[in-house]
Amino acid sequence: MVTGNVRALSALYRIQRSGLLINTGRCVTKLKRRFCEKAGNPESGGITNFHAIRQMMANLTPLPAVTSLSSRVTRVLGCNPGPFTLQGTNCYLVGTGASRILIDAGEQDNADFISNLNKTLQTEGITIQEIVITHWHRDHTGGIEGICQQACMAQKIPVSKFKQIKASDPMLGHGLEYSYVSDGHVFSAEGATLQAVYTPGHADDHMSLWMKEENSLFTGDTVLGEGTCVFEDLSDYMSSLDKIRNLSPTRLYPAHGPTVENPEEHIGMYISHRLKREGQIVECLQTADKQGLNVQHIVHQVYPGLSEHLNKGAINNVTHHLSKLIKEGRVCKVEDKYMPVATASL
Ligand SMILES: [Zn+2]
Repeated sequence: MVTGNVRALSALYRIQRSGLLINTGRCVTKLKRRFCEKAGNPESGGITNFHAIRQMMANLTPLPAVTSLSSRVTRVLGCNPGPFTLQGTNCYLVGTGASRILIDAGEQDNADFISNLNKTLQTEGITIQEIVITHWHRDHTGGIEGICQQACMAQKIPVSKFKQIKASDPMLGHGLEYSYVSDGHVFSAEGATLQAVYTPGHADDHMSLWMKEENSLFTGDTVLGEGTCVFEDLSDYMSSLDKIRNLSPTRLYPAHGPTVENPEEHIGMYISHRLKREGQIVECLQTADKQGLNVQHIVHQVYPGLSEHLNKGAINNVTHHLSKLIKEGRVCKVEDKYMPVATASL
C-alpha cells in the first residue's frame, strides 16, 4: 500500500504539472489519506495503482481556477484535487450586486485558492456578505477562517449551516461562530434568492440551495458533476435524491465537478446505480435458505471475484444497503444473519 501511495502521489504531481488541474494547491498528505480510502472502496473501481489513479484523474473534465457560469454565479475552484474531491471543491460566489454570498469555503490554508478568490473579488469590485456551508466536511469548512481573515479584511461575516445531529461542529477560530439555520431558510443577495433544502445522507447536516431566479440547485456533495459520491446513511441519501429530483431544477451546481445541464437524467443515473445494487442484495437474500446470510456471504455473491483488499469497502457498502432495507422493514437481522422479512415471520 505504501508503494501504491507513493506512486499515486507522484502520478498526481505529474498530472498537476501537465496542467490538467489548474492551481492544484497544497494537499499532498490529504491526497495520500484519501487515496487509501478510495483504494479500499470497490464502488470506486478499486483504484490501486499509479495507472488507475492517473486514468481516473485524467478522465476528469478540466476546470479553470475561476469561471463565470451564469450572470449570477462564479465558481472559484478550491485548488484541492484528489480522488474524493475530484478537481477540487467548487466554491460559488452568488449574486449580481457589490456584495455576494459565498457557498462553501474549501480546505484550510490553501494559498492558491485564497489568492484566486481575492483576485476575483478585486477584479469584480465585490465583497463577500456571508458564507453558507453545505455540510461540515473539512473540504467545505476548512477555509472559513482564512477567507474571513484574508478575503474579508477580518470582518465577522455570518457563516451559516445546518446543525450536525450526531456530533458538534468544531469551534471556528478568530471569534467566528456558525449561525444555524433551518430547512427552508432564505438567504438573499442582490440578484439571488437562495432557499436552504435539507438533503441529509452524505452528511446529516447537508444543505442544498435552491436559486429561485434560475430554478437551479447547488447540490453540495449530494450530487456531483461526475462520478458517484459516498454517503453515511443510504436511506436518507435516497430520499434526498428524490427530493432534489422532484424540484425539477434546470441546472445543478455541484460542490465537485462541472455543472450539470441535464439534471433529470443525471439524478436518475444516481438513483438507478443504487437501486441496482440494492436489487442484487435483495435477490441474494430471497434465494438464500431460511437461516439467512451474513454480510460476508452477501459480499461474495454480490461482488464475485473481488480482490481481498477491497473486501472491507464492499462490506461497508453492503452494510449501508442492509441498514436501509431494515429501516424500510424489508429485511431483518437475527444475530449476524440477514433475511427478508417474509421469511423471518414464517
Ligand atoms: Zn466535498
